[in-house]
Amino acid sequence: MRCILKCKFLIILLALVGVGLVWIFWCNNKEDGRKLETFSLSNGMNVVVMPDHRSPVVLHSVWYKAGSVDEPTGKTGIAHMLEHMMFKGTKKIKPGEISEIVARNGGQDNAFTSRDYTAYYQKVAKDKLPLMMELESDRIANLTLADKDFQPERDVVLEERRQRTDVKPINRFFEKLVHTHYPNHPYGNPIIGWREDIENYKLQDTLDWYGQHYAPNNATMILAGDITAKEAKPLVEKYYGSLEVKPTPERGNYTEALRGEPVVLKHIDKEVQVPVFYRLYRAPSAFQNIGGGVEHTEDAMALVMLAEIFGNSETGILYEALVKDQQIADAANADYDAVSLGEGSIDIFIQPKPDVKLSTIDTAVAKQIETFIANGVDADDFARAKTSLLADDVYAQDDIFHSVYRLGLWLMAGGDVKTYDDWKQELTDLTPADVITVAKRYFDVNRSTTGLLAGNEAQF
Ligand SMILES: [Zn+2]
Repeated sequence: MRCILKCKFLIILLALVGVGLVWIFWCNNKEDGRKLETFSLSNGMNVVVMPDHRSPVVLHSVWYKAGSVDEPTGKTGIAHMLEHMMFKGTKKIKPGEISEIVARNGGQDNAFTSRDYTAYYQKVAKDKLPLMMELESDRIANLTLADKDFQPERDVVLEERRQRTDVKPINRFFEKLVHTHYPNHPYGNPIIGWREDIENYKLQDTLDWYGQHYAPNNATMILAGDITAKEAKPLVEKYYGSLEVKPTPERGNYTEALRGEPVVLKHIDKEVQVPVFYRLYRAPSAFQNIGGGVEHTEDAMALVMLAEIFGNSETGILYEALVKDQQIADAANADYDAVSLGEGSIDIFIQPKPDVKLSTIDTAVAKQIETFIANGVDADDFARAKTSLLADDVYAQDDIFHSVYRLGLWLMAGGDVKTYDDWKQELTDLTPADVITVAKRYFDVNRSTTGLLAGNEAQF
């Protein structure tokens, strides 16, 4: 099923579940001569070009500031539903044909929906770029949304939800946990949508979403590969320049109030073989503070380092203590995602060894945080974490999709091209004491949500 490949939210979910994706800000590397070039069209479409002439390939992507965060009440998942419908054709193109044309021309295409955006891309040989622009610009304005295509596709989405979430105890639980963490914020809703919302979608809902959000003035193109802005501009103008400006809604300022006490979600699910412990601590992102505003968003870089030093799934302090030294867990990590429109979260995930109670894990986690704050950051750990974050950045440059993806996240969360590489200086300026400051500030149980999932009462 194509949507298995198409939905980035699976990756986001896996990251949150604890695979250990520590996001770092990606940037253009001035040392090796890379730079980002930008221009915009008179209809408001922004274009960023990331030249990389190592192979004659171009990645053409269009990003919309339209993600699950923007969805109205009762219509959760509609951004993702529309992503599916974007492959249903236009006056010129039959349903499903767009991907066939891309494949016939030796290219790959894909799309993904997340909290802050929906994006579409094709990776092709350079000479196929005009054709890709013709296809993509056509579906911004001329998408055919018909009930005969909509009804079966909604069933596809329901099946996708069933396979990813409904039949998986840990994913079912995590969905509830995130909602408990953000009961009043759209980040508390699953990107794929709540089942009852999906079941109640009408064709008109997709028409409304498309009409409100799919416009050149709400779109950012990122072109990467064997191309320069000078070459790209006449092409972009030719294919996208005549698209009309549409009124698009201002993005809301979504916030979740502070509760001032710990929240615990405890659940027994008989299908669970191995219990899990989650602790989600509210924290600012690079763009929004806890509960709103921009105060403390400058803590984001120190939080990235905290997650790396304390929570790396193979070298972090939690892993060393709980998995290697105490041998009470099989997995232990902490994730933090700095790049989001709304506030962030430090998510601790522990999988206990058989016969180790979740209460033992809870005590061990609290003890590790206390010890970490009391002892400070080891100089070697700090240096290693810095090196690791910088190395990740270098490796990411080898992959054209990864480069575009990181930049896209940054731009969709509210960042701009000018500040894209500021993180390197921030990282250079960071001290071990900064990491302890944010650990003290954000490992606050009164701003946390704990999730305890077990197969039976004895496992608590
Ligand atoms: Zn999908």
